[in-house]
Amino acid sequence: MTKRKKVVVITGGAGFLGSHLCDRFIKDGFTVLCIDNLITGNIKNIEHLIKNKNFEFLNHDISNKIYITGPVDYVLHFASPASPIDYLNYPIPTLKVGSLGTHNTLGLAKYKKAVYLIASTSEVYGDPQVHPQKEDYWGHVNPIGPRGVYDEAKRFAEAITMAYRRYHHMDSKIVRIFNTYGPRMRINDGRVVPNFVYQALHNKPLTIYGDGKQTRSFCYYTDLIEGIVRLIMSKYSGPVNIGNPDEFTILEFAQLFTKLSGTKSKIVYKKLPVDDPKIRRPDISLAKKLLKWQPKVKLEKGLKQTISWFEENYSK
Ligand code: UDP
Repeated sequence: MTKRKKVVVITGGAGFLGSHLCDRFIKDGFTVLCIDNLITGNIKNIEHLIKNKNFEFLNHDISNKIYITGPVDYVLHFASPASPIDYLNYPIPTLKVGSLGTHNTLGLAKYKKAVYLIASTSEVYGDPQVHPQKEDYWGHVNPIGPRGVYDEAKRFAEAITMAYRRYHHMDSKIVRIFNTYGPRMRINDGRVVPNFVYQALHNKPLTIYGDGKQTRSFCYYTDLIEGIVRLIMSKYSGPVNIGNPDEFTILEFAQLFTKLSGTKSKIVYKKLPVDDPKIRRPDISLAKKLLKWQPKVKLEKGLKQTISWFEENYSK
């Protein structure tokens, strides 16, 4: 008798990270059901998988219930607008997919006795008053500000995941994802990496919001995917921070970008978005200890690869 392949459901599977997860699970010999409503995801990210007999795509908004026939072994809930301008453009879908979408995917995982993983975020720490951010920090979030739609949806998602774990004894995991970049980001998603690439390609000035002294710590997608796979396959439940602790001010980041891209674009300063966190850096001691994971790709290398990918894949 041949052993059946394990089945993974990935919501947001046509997005930046979701599509890389689809690739990874296909490569590792799983059957993948990718669910996405394509509001911020892109079918192009998965078109190379469409003919694969172990891959299926379902165009569905996971904020609405779903019934799946057959076994499911793992559920990864990655569906959500994830960049500040996306969640400002889609505030209600963001709240719904973080709350109703998490409820629906937890329900699916419970029914199928699947292992569950929720994609949470460093945004649960808000504009942090503790630095670097450790998993036991409760955060500093403005619930009624424009970013609150994402931050609070993800905080709710963590709370309901914990409730299902405690009440239904589900095997569930929470990963807190810090700033990640790489191929398949949308050129117009408004985040700093695609913005700078777009601006450089169009000889427009690089926009720095505020004075550029705010910090971020950028993780290359390959490192992030490895961390997530290690977490879901482990016996640990989290929350676990996955991110790269190398911290840069946005001005330093712009200078590095200028050097690597060779752009002649100058820097212009624009207004800082409301509630934009001033500092952010993951404490990854837990991931190191439990998952034996730490990022390998330095910003310089990852950024070069990302710039090349955009140059090859984005036609003006
Ligand atoms: N940022 C910037 N210029 C841009 C886009 C973003 O200076 O064109 C800043 C933004 O204000 C934030 C940081 O870069 O402080 C990272 O922003 P991003 O949207 O990439 O991610 P966030 O960490 O805010 O979710």
